[in-house]
Amino acid sequence: MKGDAGTLAAEVEGPVLLPGSSRYDDERAGFQAGFRHRPALVVGATRPEDVRAAVRFAAERRLPVAVQSTGHGIVTALNGEGVLITTRRMKTLTVDPDAGTVTAQAGVLWGEVVERSAPHGLAPVNGSALGIGVVGYLLGGGTGLLGRRTGYASDHVRALDVVTADGVLRHVTAESEPDLFWALRGGGGNFGAVTAVETALMPLTRLYGGSLHLAADRPLDLLLAYRAWTSTLPDELTSSLCLMACPPWPNVPEPLHGRYAAHIRIAFTGSAEEGERLVAPLRALGPRLLDTVREMPYTRVGDIYRDPHAPHAYFGGNVLLRALDPTALGTVVDVAGPGAAVPCSIEIRHLGGAFARPSPDRGAVGTRDAAYMLRVMTGGAAAPPAAARPVHRQVYDALEPWTVGRSLNSVYHDGGPLSPEHVRELFAAGDYERLRRVKTLYDPHNLFRSTHNILPQPSD
Ligand SMILES: Cc1cc2nc3c(=O)[nH]c(=O)nc-3n(C[C@H](O)[C@H](O)[C@H](O)COP(=O)(O)OP(=O)(O)OC[C@H]3O[C@@H](n4cnc5c(N)ncnc54)[C@H](O)[C@@H]3O)c2cc1C
Repeated sequence: MKGDAGTLAAEVEGPVLLPGSSRYDDERAGFQAGFRHRPALVVGATRPEDVRAAVRFAAERRLPVAVQSTGHGIVTALNGEGVLITTRRMKTLTVDPDAGTVTAQAGVLWGEVVERSAPHGLAPVNGSALGIGVVGYLLGGGTGLLGRRTGYASDHVRALDVVTADGVLRHVTAESEPDLFWALRGGGGNFGAVTAVETALMPLTRLYGGSLHLAADRPLDLLLAYRAWTSTLPDELTSSLCLMACPPWPNVPEPLHGRYAAHIRIAFTGSAEEGERLVAPLRALGPRLLDTVREMPYTRVGDIYRDPHAPHAYFGGNVLLRALDPTALGTVVDVAGPGAAVPCSIEIRHLGGAFARPSPDRGAVGTRDAAYMLRVMTGGAAAPPAAARPVHRQVYDALEPWTVGRSLNSVYHDGGPLSPEHVRELFAAGDYERLRRVKTLYDPHNLFRSTHNILPQPSD
């Protein structure tokens, strides 16, 4: 590999690093600290030509290729083989205020788009954490902060530049390559290495939103109250509730550290007055440990979820539910609540609204008609996946009768590679077969398999 790496290094502008070199470990590191890629070679791409060279290099040798921007969403790691392309140096970002769009290279983060869009009175369809990569999030659908109003973020994508397994850099739009365009918007990192994406922005400068922490001595009562509350809401309000022992993160106030609480996150695009009225029933539920729900500029949306900034280990997954059944919720709290055998967070995201609305431009995002997503997560090295998995499994089993699918972006490390059955559950049945056809066409040798891997059809 050493001589080969020299040939590749002569073609690319960014670093080409082998195991044992001093910068190799830094280059492959990401936000997920529980595990990481261990490639035979890593290319720190600085431009689309670097990505092309790296893909061609891998294709000629039939090596697997993985792409990493921030490492928030790694699910299957390269393990001693293959080529990892890191995109964090690809930072070109252009806002077109007249068209209401942004074009972002593969290393751009949502926080950067928020900052650059705001002076034009525009905002992106980002998710909870501003440190997430634009491309990785959009490839997985994107369950946004305002998703009940905007629908899935990937439905707003206008064009993608992608290097497919044949080494060709394609500008993919609904007109140029409709099947690939459809598959890239929800089908994950299966179809090539994306170098840039163009996506729509929305005219928005402000929100009524923030974090509400309630003492959760009776967690089931809070879940049931949240369930009732969400049935009354307009699509302009998107929210979630997370039950957990508050982590000792710098962005969580110290008095909350270790305290078991319900963290309710609110994002409402209507007036502050109307927002106060809508949130009042939650505020009446019990002692408020922290309440930052307020009128805010869109540039402060990172405050709503208070997601961690520092890399750490986390394991978990999700189910999409057609309803929240009170008895099943009781079991979920018994299994994964404050008395759980391993520490868990239980997050319920309210879907419906525009998430569920049919759209002619829709991409490959799976089950759209779910009413809620429920995620179970365990963080930190103290609770390895082998201990967490049986607890999470009990939660999913209890919810099985109401489960209609799983959301790709919220599938995290589960202690091993994702099984083909698990990947299949991320998509509607007909969509999965269509995705396989697209995969077969653009990546017949399955180079891009170090992801939520859609298998190409076998060649006869
Ligand atoms: C704290 C936290 C909060 C989150 N909040 C939300 C949320 O609100 N809504 C939501 O929908 N999701 C959310 N996610 C999930 C997140 O959107 C996914 O994990 C997403 O894949 C992360 O993208 P990334 O580029 O930052 O991460 P990476 O780990 O760098 O990439 C994830 C995967 O995307 C693919 N990929 C990335 N870049 C490329 C590329 N250029 N070309 C081809 N494939 C590529 C690869 O398969 C890669 O393994 C959250 C995750 C975390 C950890």
